[in-house]
Amino acid sequence: MIKRIVSLIVTLLLAFSLTSCGGEEYLDQVIYGMDTYITVRLSSEASDGSKISEERFSELCDECAYIIAKNERLMSSHDEDAQIYGINSGGVSMILSPNKELLSVLRAAEDMEEKTDGAFSYTLGALTELWNVSGGGPVPSDEAIAEALLHTNSSSVEFSEEKIAKSDADCKIDLGGIAKGHTAQELVEYLASEGVSYGLVSVSSSIGVFGSKDDASPFKVGLTDPSDTSGVAGYLSIHSGFISVSGSYERYFEENGQRYHHIIDPATGCPADSDIVSVAVWANNGSVADALSTSLFVMGVDGTSELYRSGEIDFEAVIITEGGEIILTDGIAEEDFELANDKYTVRKSN
Ligand code: AMP
Ligand code: MG
Repeated sequence: MIKRIVSLIVTLLLAFSLTSCGGEEYLDQVIYGMDTYITVRLSSEASDGSKISEERFSELCDECAYIIAKNERLMSSHDEDAQIYGINSGGVSMILSPNKELLSVLRAAEDMEEKTDGAFSYTLGALTELWNVSGGGPVPSDEAIAEALLHTNSSSVEFSEEKIAKSDADCKIDLGGIAKGHTAQELVEYLASEGVSYGLVSVSSSIGVFGSKDDASPFKVGLTDPSDTSGVAGYLSIHSGFISVSGSYERYFEENGQRYHHIIDPATGCPADSDIVSVAVWANNGSVADALSTSLFVMGVDGTSELYRSGEIDFEAVIITEGGEIILTDGIAEEDFELANDKYTVRKSN
């Protein structure tokens, strides 16, 4: 209980509001946690047809804030109380009887690393620390990048129900590419189990929807225009699942007129030099959508198309390219994507 109270203090519940949108009435709450703003938007009607009271909504949001704080404590690389922080900072360290949820995220990260041939790497913490993109750089030396690359290697990390152990003191785990999607999934599962008829959560750029509207209409998710982030490039309509977006416009710093963004190519140790500027992945699992959007950005247009055709991972994607094209994978029906900006042209994937 004490732990829960502390968590709620760290995670702030911000504005609450009641919104009407296209004839539907929503309860909205913004929560600050995991270094970002998280939105919970629920239909004001419960599945049994009754109205959700303000008090009930506030209880649901308190529990969401608890889930968010718990996940931050498990997966943050900079919260000193987080399990990952402990492993990263403790030299050749070990955690005995690790948290089961943390293990499941590590397994999902390992699986993604395998399926993307290393485009996703959950041990690139030395590189993300070195580039310090959120702190504004500066661009590291080639020697420092080469050194950090030596410590980017998942074979240095071993995990099981018994322990998480590291054989290289300088190898650092970074779950920044998957933690938000995992959290979106957990929030959706919790809210759907509490008798809410439908709604959505948005954990920064990982969005999850659940339930179905009375008129069976889809949820329309706006995809940010990378060249003008106050605008929307297009809308993707979905009935269920998770959408995660990764883009070079999300976090970056500039030096000598060049942009250095936060998605690192584990093969070079540098911000991925990709022909993609933004990719939205739609999958039926939050962790997969999140980790895959980061991976596809690194893999580029051709790599994405190859992975899609292999059928190894079940997903759909909307890619915005450097050249101003919007590319849709085969499973996205024409009527499910609406272009909102005529500076882009839309085509199907090759
Ligand atoms: P996202 O915004 O979901 O694409 O995730 C980006 C975050 O994931 C970065 O801030 C890093 O913490 C981490 N990251 C960067 N590059 C990679 C990569 N290639 N594989 C896995 N995680 C990454
Ligand atoms: Mg991601």
